[in-house]
Amino acid sequence: MEVLPRFSNRLLSLSSINPNSKSLITPFFHLQFCQLPTSNPLPICPNPLKTTRFFSTKPLNSSSSSPSPLTTRAGWLLGLREKNQQKLPDLVKAGDPVLHEPAREVDPNEIGSEKIQKIIDDMIKVMRVAPGVGLAAPQIGIPLKIIVLEDTKEFISYAPKEEIKAQDRRPFDLLVIVNPVLKKKSNRTALFFEGCLSVDGYRAVVERYLDVEVKGLDQYGQPIKVDASGWQARILQHECDHLEGTLYVDKMMPRTFRTVENLDLPLAVGCPKLGARKISS
Ligand SMILES: [Zn+2]
Repeated sequence: MEVLPRFSNRLLSLSSINPNSKSLITPFFHLQFCQLPTSNPLPICPNPLKTTRFFSTKPLNSSSSSPSPLTTRAGWLLGLREKNQQKLPDLVKAGDPVLHEPAREVDPNEIGSEKIQKIIDDMIKVMRVAPGVGLAAPQIGIPLKIIVLEDTKEFISYAPKEEIKAQDRRPFDLLVIVNPVLKKKSNRTALFFEGCLSVDGYRAVVERYLDVEVKGLDQYGQPIKVDASGWQARILQHECDHLEGTLYVDKMMPRTFRTVENLDLPLAVGCPKLGARKISS
């Protein structure tokens, strides 16, 4: 899920930046494109990765024998060496059938296999490089029920305090959930803008439950149960939706869809306010 903290790129250690990412941009340059909006009390930073690119987006380990000077320069700045680079799967974008069809359950006996472990590893790397706070296997083209999510204290610290509080956003360690089954634990809901790495460049308001429980298996095949609330509950719902072939745009509030550049413009007349609200049971 593309609910990025402001300045998130600045938080990535240089060594963690994937040279193959299409969104190669230096942390330094990112800063000027991520001014804090002031008009919206709950803004989310435009995806820094959609801003003007200073360097070629061509993968550094491209098969081309003559990398562009700009690409070479980026590699030099990041201290990367071609021989250490490993290509990660591309993020699948909206429109690809894999994002619009239900994913298959993973055979519990296969979770320990090299194949599934590699998928999980790739998902974690892709999520962190993007960067995002959650990812579902279909987003790297794998139609299996696997999700990963993570929100760090450091990431959150770059969001405005009032936003963190309103969203009930708290850090949590990396979670890998295979065959997740999500259940709401209350009728409390909240409306906030959210985005998706597979629909990058856009945001829309989505109403989500504030309290959920997710059961499944961890990356070792052991049963796992997660009780989540607030922003973590939103991420879980977003990622579990992916496994049903549902994108946030399939359940967004009408007339709230917008580009990240227009995120701070007022909501249309008649749209409900952002924040928590109760719904009748
Ligand atoms: Zn998503």
